[in-house]
Amino acid sequence: MKLVICLLTLSIVTLSEGKSSKPSGMEVKSFSRKYGFSLRVRLEKEELILKKGAFKVSLLPNATVALTNRQEVWFLKTPVLLTNNGVILPSSLIERLLKATKKAEYSNPKPIEKIIETSNRFNSSKDKIKFIVLDAGHGGKDPGNVHHGVSEKKVNLIITQKVAAILKKKDPNLRIVFTRNDDRFISLEGRSNMAVNLSRLNHQGLFVSIHANASLNSKSKGIETYFYSSNGSHKSHERIRCFRNLILPLSQNPKVHKIITKMYDLQISKESKYLAQYVNREVYSRVRNKTNNRGVKAHKPYFVITHNNLPSILVEVGFLSNSQEARMLMNSSHQYQVALGIATGIHRFITQFNNSKGFLEP
Ligand SMILES: [Zn+2]
Repeated sequence: MKLVICLLTLSIVTLSEGKSSKPSGMEVKSFSRKYGFSLRVRLEKEELILKKGAFKVSLLPNATVALTNRQEVWFLKTPVLLTNNGVILPSSLIERLLKATKKAEYSNPKPIEKIIETSNRFNSSKDKIKFIVLDAGHGGKDPGNVHHGVSEKKVNLIITQKVAAILKKKDPNLRIVFTRNDDRFISLEGRSNMAVNLSRLNHQGLFVSIHANASLNSKSKGIETYFYSSNGSHKSHERIRCFRNLILPLSQNPKVHKIITKMYDLQISKESKYLAQYVNREVYSRVRNKTNNRGVKAHKPYFVITHNNLPSILVEVGFLSNSQEARMLMNSSHQYQVALGIATGIHRFITQFNNSKGFLEP
């Protein structure tokens, strides 16, 4: 699936086929000869690649999905059929292939912004971010890092509550869900299940976890922001299990399923990275005189952001093991500045995402 995956990066466009499509079709070799396409068959992958000019499409026999090099997914009513007479392309697909290659834009690709404008996940009406899960790390019997008389669970909760209050003011329509809003213990599964269950309602959301760091080196200091990355060291099978709940209705074909899942994973990880970049930049711009920026990083295998199906980040707001920083993190005006940075970054990401029906790199 390597090649297929290479074709899939940013966006997905769903196009359903019209009911008028005729049941008949054409054998793929005859089609490519007649219309000047080159045909490549990758037997080991059971994949067919049709190419004409700058346009390329990957087809899978018996699948109702086709993938173009313009990062579009075509959902087909009639599958590409593997028969004794060869591979038959349904006529509706043929029409679309001819239409696609007629357009001058394929020989002269659009700038990426244009593509993003017309892109969405799976359904444009569901393409706005409607909720955010704010996850104050630790709580109850689990204090997190404790240094210099400051416990992490307390700092995390105060900052999380401030983030929520600022976000509510910026966007009264955004639904804010806390994994905890007081000093209680919630398991890691409990936290990520909230995100998974909410996204089952077919709304877009974000997941932001807030923590404070500690290091054996008492001089370590600074903020850092982790994001979910499909390229991270952690195997993403757990995450794919979460995606499955969302994707299953789209296709019962396991092969198509795998592709869409992978695409979804890549897209979510890209969005997670952008969200982390927005947040990191906004937080650092407010605390730059007081601490370092350790930057934006692909996730360590943090449970809450890997067992999840939303764009997910984990913000480390500072080091409690550093006495100066521990003091700072208990200072309410510093807490407010950090919270304002996190909320502003989130709000900027949401505004950008909702207005572009997709996402743009900050
Ligand atoms: Zn923590």
